[in-house]
Amino acid sequence: MSELAARAVGSLRGVGPRAATRLAKLGIHTVEDLLFHLPFRYEDRTRIAPIGRLRPEQHVVVEGEIMAADILFGKRRSLLCKVSDGTGMISLRFFHFSAAQKNNLERGRRIRVYGEVRVGGTGLEFFHPEYELADDDTLPALHKSLTPVYPTTEGVQQRSLRTLMQQALALLNQHPPRDLLPEALLARNGLPTLREALLKLHAPNVDDPVDMLLSGGHPAVQRLVMEEMVAHQLGMLSKRAGQKAHGAPVLEGERLFATLCDGLPFSLTGAQQRVIHEIAADLALPSPMLRLVQGDVGAGKTLVAAAAALMAIESGYQVALMAPTELLAEQHLASFRRWLAPLGIEVLWLSGSLGQKARRETLEKLADGSVGMVVGTHALFQEAVQFHRLGLTIIDEQHRFGVHQRLALREKGRQDNQVPHQLVLTATPIPRTLAMSLYGDLDTSVIDELPPGREPIETLALPAASRRADVIQRVHAAAAKGTQAYWVCTLIEESDTLQAQAAEATWEDLKTALPDLTIELVHGRMKPKDKAAAMARFASGEAQLLVATTVIEVGVDVPNATLMVMENAERLGLSQLHQLRGRVGRGSGKSYCVLLYQTPLSQTARRRLAVMRETGDGFRIAEEDLRLRGPGEWLGTRQTGELAFRIADLMRDEALMVPARDMAERLLADHPANAEALLRRWLKGAEGYADV
Ligand code: ADP
Ligand code: MG
Repeated sequence: MSELAARAVGSLRGVGPRAATRLAKLGIHTVEDLLFHLPFRYEDRTRIAPIGRLRPEQHVVVEGEIMAADILFGKRRSLLCKVSDGTGMISLRFFHFSAAQKNNLERGRRIRVYGEVRVGGTGLEFFHPEYELADDDTLPALHKSLTPVYPTTEGVQQRSLRTLMQQALALLNQHPPRDLLPEALLARNGLPTLREALLKLHAPNVDDPVDMLLSGGHPAVQRLVMEEMVAHQLGMLSKRAGQKAHGAPVLEGERLFATLCDGLPFSLTGAQQRVIHEIAADLALPSPMLRLVQGDVGAGKTLVAAAAALMAIESGYQVALMAPTELLAEQHLASFRRWLAPLGIEVLWLSGSLGQKARRETLEKLADGSVGMVVGTHALFQEAVQFHRLGLTIIDEQHRFGVHQRLALREKGRQDNQVPHQLVLTATPIPRTLAMSLYGDLDTSVIDELPPGREPIETLALPAASRRADVIQRVHAAAAKGTQAYWVCTLIEESDTLQAQAAEATWEDLKTALPDLTIELVHGRMKPKDKAAAMARFASGEAQLLVATTVIEVGVDVPNATLMVMENAERLGLSQLHQLRGRVGRGSGKSYCVLLYQTPLSQTARRRLAVMRETGDGFRIAEEDLRLRGPGEWLGTRQTGELAFRIADLMRDEALMVPARDMAERLLADHPANAEALLRRWLKGAEGYADV
């Protein structure tokens, strides 16, 4: 399609610089872009409807004679033109019109009108319809195919878009594009050529299944979707190839981790061992590891990360572990210090809230290489941070960071052509299709086994209004048995301040209701020092109840906590509910989760609470969540951009993902020139592909 891609829309008749700028707003720069701008509706202008049989809301074509055209001075000045075809009369109403327009609508002249029938002041009316006037009593021939209706933007008229598309389609016929997808694949999937698909979409026949064209099920749409998905996968693969082309330090050594394991009160699960093995094999190669470790909450990802870290340290390299929130980073810091101190390894801390002096010291120790490991937040990729020999980066909860941030951290360790290995952890199991589109550049390991002795968490959903007192009694009973509980306060507002206030109010209430318990409070507005102190008192068992905002969502690890209460659970999404619930059930005793909700429940909220009661399986919950929310919301705004498809729809076109991946691999191997052309066609200007 290179002719079409090389030709600017500005070269089409009727497109001046102003129009070109406006078209650019729709993402249309070339004739090829224009052809990928698909209709969202079709109108049937192939036959004329008798005026006498029109019904409101029909989109129709009528033809008749102008009976009158008058300016009415009512509440709003309007031009009203009456048209009759012998079967009935209908009015055309214009609120914006010119004198010339009025003069052209002469009594007795023939007119053809396209529009939606509405009920107006004079009976059935068209508001601002498109129309054509006869010269010498003749009107142009009727359309033979359905008329497309395109998404427009200010200053781009539907009509001119259609005229441009006619020119583009003519060019398409003159220069039929070479198909970049192999014929065999198209045939196997029953897909048309690109030219056929585009012609079908822009000018379908009257008897084509319009519903299928619009819903995406039609082979013409699937043809484009397939191509776009293949291009997307090619982007992933080339990004990966670009990264793999770098060198990386060879990291080997099992001594330190073996010593750590000897000191643990438990042994590794089979899944942990397998994943550690996969990581060790990657690290032993002189090209960078790019590995995503997925594991449900409580699966023991931290220990797997520690294994990787120790391999790097034993080989004389530094490790940086980055987490999205201060609280989560602090939890990791505590685990790593606990595990690494006996091995004589210091672990540094770096976050935005660190004091000037401590910060300077940390930076020095990282730069001169005297310390092998640092744990922190986004602060880790600030400019001032320099490493002596960074060999491995570990990122927890990847879905909260973008690809760019991952790459930024990697750049910290670039030395000549060497970059650090990358390990990414996520507790949000990612449904397969999404993982393929979002993390297609990474290898994946799954820790699909929980440590032994974990009983499933029993989950209840209760109306807060009538059952709150019972739940408070449950907290009391849990404390009496020597176990601990969380009470999570949620608010729909994003504001930290309001969340903090709500948590503080609940804290006061619970202190009054449970006077013999020690109750701690943690929220996002507290000083890090106070937050850490409160957490420490809960972790040590000194406090029996922790009241918190959703800041404790990830990472907090207190195995003796067996009861989780969530207020306003109806407001939370499934992933968040699952993450929060995962704060309990981490020890060996039976754990409970109480979801307190406010009535009335919306349908989705009811569904979410039901899913939570039914299952503890993170993958099932993630899939259900994706279904309820759609990929954009599921991922959060940061990553939607990375998944911005022009035509494909991740949910709708899920079934094409695996074939698209296979095809991308085959194209790269057998038709590299096609692969490159496809990438250019679909991903030009896409971020993230250039900087590998
Ligand atoms: P997550 O995968 O959610 O990050 P963690 O790494 O925080 O899980 O581990 C959860 C808890 O399980 C921690 O207390 C950890 O020490 C413990 N743990 C990890 N591996 C095992 C194991 N093999 N057997 C028993 N407990 C384990
Ligand atoms: Mg964790």
